[in-house]
Order: sequence, then structure tokens, then C-alpha cells
Amino acid sequence: MFESVLIANRGEIACRIIRTAQALGMRTIAVHSQADADALFVQMADEAWEIGPAPASESYLRIDKVIDVALKSGAQCIHPGYGFLSERAEFAEACAENGIAFIGPPASAIRAMGLKDAAKALAQKAGVPVVPGYHGSKQDPDFLRQKAYEIGYPVLIKAVAGGGGKGMKRVDKATEFDDALASAMREAQASFGDPRVLVEKYVLSPRHVEIQIFADQHGNVVHLNERDCSLQRRHQKVIEEAPAPGMTPEMREAMGKAAVEAARAVGYVGAGTVEFIADGREGLRPDRFYFMEMNTRLQVEHPVTEAVTGLDLVALQFRVAHGETLPFTQEEVRLEGHAVEARLYAEDPEKGFLPSTGRLWALELPEDFGIRVDSGVEAGDEVSPFYDPMIAKIIARGADRDEALDRLSRALGETLVAGPRTNAAFLKKLVDAQAFRDGAFDTGFIDQNLEELGAVERPLDPIAVAAGALALVRRDHDRNALAGSVAVGDLPGPWWASDGFQLVGQRQTGLPLMVDGARVEGALTWDAQGPAFELPGAQSPPGAVEASVVEAGETMLVLREGRQTRVAIHDPTAVDLEHLDAGGLIKAPMHGKLVALFVETGQSVEKGQRVAVVEAMKMEHVLTAPLDGVIGEIAAAIGDQVGEGARITVVLEEGDTA
Ligand code: ADP
Ligand code: ADP
Ligand code: MG
Repeated sequence: MFESVLIANRGEIACRIIRTAQALGMRTIAVHSQADADALFVQMADEAWEIGPAPASESYLRIDKVIDVALKSGAQCIHPGYGFLSERAEFAEACAENGIAFIGPPASAIRAMGLKDAAKALAQKAGVPVVPGYHGSKQDPDFLRQKAYEIGYPVLIKAVAGGGGKGMKRVDKATEFDDALASAMREAQASFGDPRVLVEKYVLSPRHVEIQIFADQHGNVVHLNERDCSLQRRHQKVIEEAPAPGMTPEMREAMGKAAVEAARAVGYVGAGTVEFIADGREGLRPDRFYFMEMNTRLQVEHPVTEAVTGLDLVALQFRVAHGETLPFTQEEVRLEGHAVEARLYAEDPEKGFLPSTGRLWALELPEDFGIRVDSGVEAGDEVSPFYDPMIAKIIARGADRDEALDRLSRALGETLVAGPRTNAAFLKKLVDAQAFRDGAFDTGFIDQNLEELGAVERPLDPIAVAAGALALVRRDHDRNALAGSVAVGDLPGPWWASDGFQLVGQRQTGLPLMVDGARVEGALTWDAQGPAFELPGAQSPPGAVEASVVEAGETMLVLREGRQTRVAIHDPTAVDLEHLDAGGLIKAPMHGKLVALFVETGQSVEKGQRVAVVEAMKMEHVLTAPLDGVIGEIAAAIGDQVGEGARITVVLEEGDTA
């Protein structure tokens, strides 16, 4: 076995790889950006080398720097994880040129599968079914529109260089084709530096079912069964499981065989995944699945396969790269029980899943029987705006699907994250959804059920506000800071009353709060049943204040039913930076890059009109005018990096001056 490995990645996957490498007796070498100097994976590794500033383009994506550290530290091999350099053929080549083993397939296989059009052509040649469509080189709009007509609507336009669900547009009718094509090409050019697209049939009731394959250097190729990744949002996976609901042995055999053929066609070595789209209108049928693409790396959701096969895929990657023969045959591959993974993200489902960064004031991830947690962060760490905002993967296994889902549901219920908002409650609802339990779902399930899943804006939770208000009152009392400027000090209350306070009648005190960044005038009341908090239009039932409260500086983070509410005392002497301007201020929702600006100073806009687009964490955020008015000074230019909350411009109401 290799004696040392450099891990060219970060976060949970770096931790995951280090764990196995250390168990195999290897010296582990981490490379990290300045932002990750104190990260968990850096602490876990035997050695750590800094390779540059926070932006990935200046650190994790720098092939020269990674190779330089590998040479200096004497690393025998490099594991690229997923994302970053994992699918860059030049990186695999640079490793080879410097005598370092690359834990992945040959550069030629990465290249062959790198572009979706070429990969489709290759799969077709190998006898693997592909989605009907046009994947040739002509890019003329008239020609592509004609092809779309021949294929039959709905069609999907895809960037040939695409990944991560970007540059993909569904088109339902001919009149929408030209706009969708232009937009897909623009996105493809911006994201991948390559505007080329392919057009294919949009498969109805689509199910995403993928096959994990493994190949050694001696011509052995096996598949390790399927994973169903149909629960998606913006074409990105949210929940993955194995086996796929409704899978039959015939279908598994047909898909497994097709995946192995595709891998053989490119001389594959190591771990890879062949992604198929299945037409699920009549359940999974062996004659209705099509090759989509091959991911030539370890997949995010590989733990699901590990759980049902009993294999350690990372250990297997090292063995195969070291020249060992696969230690089992296809017949010996196990498939036992059921496993399901949920991706816990720092994002806000109530705000269109906007990534939510910042310090993790509290982090409790379940460690129950049947639960595996792969995470790269600890309480006290920052979820930084520079990288993927995944906090953890929670993987549950059980004897059958229901047992696995029940365990996952419980684990999600026990998950506690304070600071960034997360999708934990959303995931729990998803895992509990009856249609999902029944196996009656396709890739559109999440989008069709956003409301039921709680992924819509909701009003303040008065119970959480009450819990936060009470916690603030108690803290201020404990601090004995009764003489301050804040009204809390004047509060009488049953908790510390020494004046023979009687629990009769009702008492009430006005309390000015900042709740989730907005000023709230509420009243704290209590009677014999206990405390309650009254907001205009909503009242928490007395005595029902049950929530976890985490103190974060001057703010109380209240967690209730998977939702977080930030409660602080409104300090009238502090300058309220957030509300300095009129309501027309347009700010960057998070750290990112200004990629489009649709207005100029002096231009009239209507409420809701698009003003700018900020790209952050692989997503575009459209900023719209909050009111009718005239655009004031514009504080940023296209291409600028903008910080969270940075002013971009302001919409001035008629009569205002800048
Ligand atoms: P998968 O099927 O494994 O989710 P995708 O093809 O959807 O893979 O995306 C590639 C993987 O790389 C994703 O899981 C994504 O989280 C990861 N990834 C993409 N960009 C980044 C990044 N900037 N930082 C870290 N990970 C990334
Ligand atoms: P990426 O490289 O972004 O992962 P994929 O080609 O794997 O791109 O597609 C991503 C997702 O888009 C799939 O998981 C699937 O949900 C959806 N998708 C892709 N092709 C089709 C299709 N022809 N019909 C319906 N849905 C599709
Ligand atoms: Mg894909």
C-alpha cells in the first residue's frame, strides 16, 4: 500500500478520506486555503500546508501549488475527492508527469467522459441506451430549433461542458425555444467557458438512478448496485438512497451491464458513477432508462453504497490505484438492507434556499445506532461564503426502507444547528412525506411540494420570539445590568421577584426587539400559566414556550421545530446600519460576484423589476426593486466581488434625493 497521501480537497470529504487513509497506515497530508487554517480536516491530517487565499481559484484549484506541496512533502499519491480538481484531466496528467499516483481514472477516461455530447456518442457506440436527441456539433439556432421539433417537446437544452445542474433549460413549446437556447448558451459560456449545448428529449416522470462501478487495472469491472437520487432541487441531489424504490432484479442487471459497458468503453479504472435517467411513468422498466453522463470520481453519496455493500470505497480506490486486483467478483457484491443519505446544508428553505453563512454557535449531529454522520465542521467553525455550504451528510441504514427512513427522520429531528439557517426541518418533512414513503415520486417532487415541505416564507413564530425574549430578560437579570438604557431592567417578573409577587392576574411589559433583523414591538405577558409573548396579530400560548435557545453574543438564537429565530433587544442608541436608508436599499444577499446590472442611475423602475444579479455559491440571485421609484447611485460594477449586505444601489421614491 502507499505510505503517504495528499488530499487535494477540504471539508467533509477530506475528513472522510483521511480517516480511511490513516486506518490503512498512511501518512496524511492536507493542503488548505488561508480560510481553512483551523478546519477540522487540517487538524486531523498528519501534516498541513497552506496553498493560498480563500477563493478556490487561488488555492484548491491551483494545480501547480498542489503538485509543489506533493513533491516537497513526498506524497506518493493524491486523492482529489469530489468537485475541485477531481475531474480535470490536466491534473491527473500533472500527477503522472511528477511520478505521483492519481487516485482516480486515467486522464484519457476523464477526458472521454468530460463533455456530455462526446460521452453520449461514446455510450451509444458501446450499445448503451441514450436519451433521444441531438448531440452533434452544429450550434445554429434554426438548426437546433428544427431538431427540437423533430425530438418533440418538452426538450432539455444542456451545456455539453455542464455540471452541477448549470446551463440546463427545459423547453415546453417551440415559441420558448430561442430564448431558452440563448440563456442556456450564456450560462454555459459564463460557467464553463464553452457555450456549446445539446438538445434532448425531456424524459417524463424522470427518476435519477445511477450505478456505482469499480474497475481495477487488470480488466475487471464490476458494478456495486444503484442509488436513487430523484429527490432534487435545481437538478441537484438532496436525498439519495439504495436500493432504488421499485427496482427489479432484471432492471438492476440491465442497468449494471450498461454501466459496466460504458466504463469498459473508456478503459476506466477506479471508482466511477454512471448516471441514468429513467422514465418512471409506469415504474422502473428495463426498456426505459437512458445514459445521461458518467462522473469520473468518488461521488458525494458514496456512503449509501458503502452501507448496503459493506465496502469501504475509499480503501478500494487506494488498493486499485496501487495495482491490486479487485478483491471480489460481481456475484460476490452484497446488497443488504436499505440506506438513505440526506445532505444537510447551511441554507434557508424559506428564502429560496439562499445559502446562509456565518459562525456555528452550536452544532449537535446525531450519533445513533444505524446513523453515520460525515461532517467537516465543529461548533465554533464558520460556514464560509467561499465554498460549498454543506454542513454534513447524515446516512441512515435499516433492515428495510421504512426502518432506514424512520431512523433518518429521527436523526434529522435531533439535529441542532445554531447560527446559519439549515434545511434540517425541510429534510425531515421530505423524509416523512407520504408520497415519498410510497415510492410515488420523481425529480419534480420537491418543486411541486414546496409549501407542504415548509419551503415558503412564513410569518414570525411568536413562541420562538417569546422564548428568545424570556432568555434575554433572564440573561440581563443574571448580569444584574439593570441600570442600562434598555427597558428590560425595569421588568418585574416572577423569576426574581422579592416583593411578594403574586401569581394572580396578568402582568404585561412592552419590549422592543430586533427579530431576524427587523424591529418588533411586542409585549411580554405572564399570568398563572406562565410567560407568553404577544406580537401584533399573534400571541404565543401561555406556558407553551418550549425551544432550544443558544446565546450568540447579544443575540439569542431560538430553535423550534427546526426553525431558527434570532432575537435581540433593540438598542435605540445603536446606529441601525441595516435600516439607515429608506426601504429602497438594494444589498447583496451574500458574499458573491455582481454578474449583471439591468439599470442605470436615474432610471425609473417598478416594484419587482429586475435590478441586478449576484452569483454566489454556484447560484444566481436576482435582486429586484423593492418599490416603485428611480435608481440612485450605483455602488458596484459588473465583475465586482461584493460582501454580504454590501449596498449595490438604492431605489429612491418620487421626491427623495440621493
Ligand atoms: P454529485 O452527483 O456527486 O453531487 P455533481 O456533478 O452534482 O456531483 O457536482 C459535483 C460535486 O462537487 C457536488 O457534489 C458539489 O457539492 C461538489 N462541488 C462543486 N463545486 C464545489 C466547490 N466549489 N467546492 C466544493 N465542492 C464543490
Ligand atoms: P449535471 O452534470 O449537472 O449533473 P446531468 O446531465 O447529470 O447534469 O443532469 C442533472 C439532472 O437533470 C439529472 O439528475 C436529472 O434530474 C435532470 N435531467 C437530465 N437530463 C434529463 C432529461 N433528458 N430528462 C429529464 N430530466 C433530466
Ligand atoms: Mg449529473
